[in-house]
Amino acid sequence: MHRPETPDLAALRPRLPSPLEPADDERFARHGVRLLLKRDDLIHPELAGNKWRKLAPNLRAAAASGRRTLLTFGGAYSNHLRATAAAGRLLGFATVGVVRGEELADRPLNPSLARCAADGMRLCFVDRAAYRRKSEPGAVAVFLGRAGLDPDAVYVVPEGGSNALAARGCAELGRELRRDLRGVAGTVAVACGTGGTLAGLAAGLGSGRRAVGFPVLKGDFLEREIRRLQQAAFGGPVGDWRLDGRFHFGGFARTTPALDAFAEEFGERHGLRVERLYVAKMLYGLTTLAEEGAFPPGTTVAAVITGGPEPSGPEPSPTG
Ligand SMILES: *Cc1c(COP(=O)(O)O)cnc(C)c1O
Repeated sequence: MHRPETPDLAALRPRLPSPLEPADDERFARHGVRLLLKRDDLIHPELAGNKWRKLAPNLRAAAASGRRTLLTFGGAYSNHLRATAAAGRLLGFATVGVVRGEELADRPLNPSLARCAADGMRLCFVDRAAYRRKSEPGAVAVFLGRAGLDPDAVYVVPEGGSNALAARGCAELGRELRRDLRGVAGTVAVACGTGGTLAGLAAGLGSGRRAVGFPVLKGDFLEREIRRLQQAAFGGPVGDWRLDGRFHFGGFARTTPALDAFAEEFGERHGLRVERLYVAKMLYGLTTLAEEGAFPPGTTVAAVITGGPEPSGPEPSPTG
């Protein structure tokens, strides 16, 4: 296969800025609120949504440093692992995925990991304790040693792809919305995993517009993490943002019949397939807020569709 010297992201023809589409929804209209969908899922068929925005600057930095292998981290259903594997295939990087859960090594790969492997990603399964220590000093060196990799040839992307470069990449999402919503009062909603997308989005939106994040994971680490990312990317706190932690539905990849029914119905109503790990929870939370009267009449709410549906196959489940 031909391996270009520098990855030509423009050759992948990303659809940028991504479209901003009106969505007719009486759950919002009843309260005098206009709903828009920011279709970041349409940026690229394989490297979509916030994964494009977060990876693009990292891929440029990797190329500039002459490193041709990407190493990153994720769980068994990580959209980030899948995006990194696709980026590697499309742009000629070798990829290594450190996957949480040693026990997975002895099982058939789920559809998400199977897609990673098909894209050429080397999967290294590690136990949960080792995985938890992945951001401690020296931990990466251990993973590299285990995988027999030369540290000078490897560009390390943190779990979820969230670092300062990623947050700056997501600021462009905020700037696109700021241009599109010129003169319009409103709120922008986004799902949160590691928080890199919200950290950047809030920075790019500028003043007068608020971002609300819906964490899909349980726990209270996220606010601190977003502040840390903004410090690293922008030198301090920036933008008007808050989190609504009520809609994690039990944690990552957990769902309920009510959430599934909502996602199905929302997708049919608005003509898109709703990604279930993140986007469904954000849309559910946002619709609940609208029904609670959280948004003043006459304002606009833009929901960021941060990605498309996972590869087909059995739905994620704890027995996976
Ligand atoms: C990865 C992902 C997110 C989470 O983004 P963070 O920057 O980690 O908060 C949200 N939505 C989708 C569709 C994703 O794949």
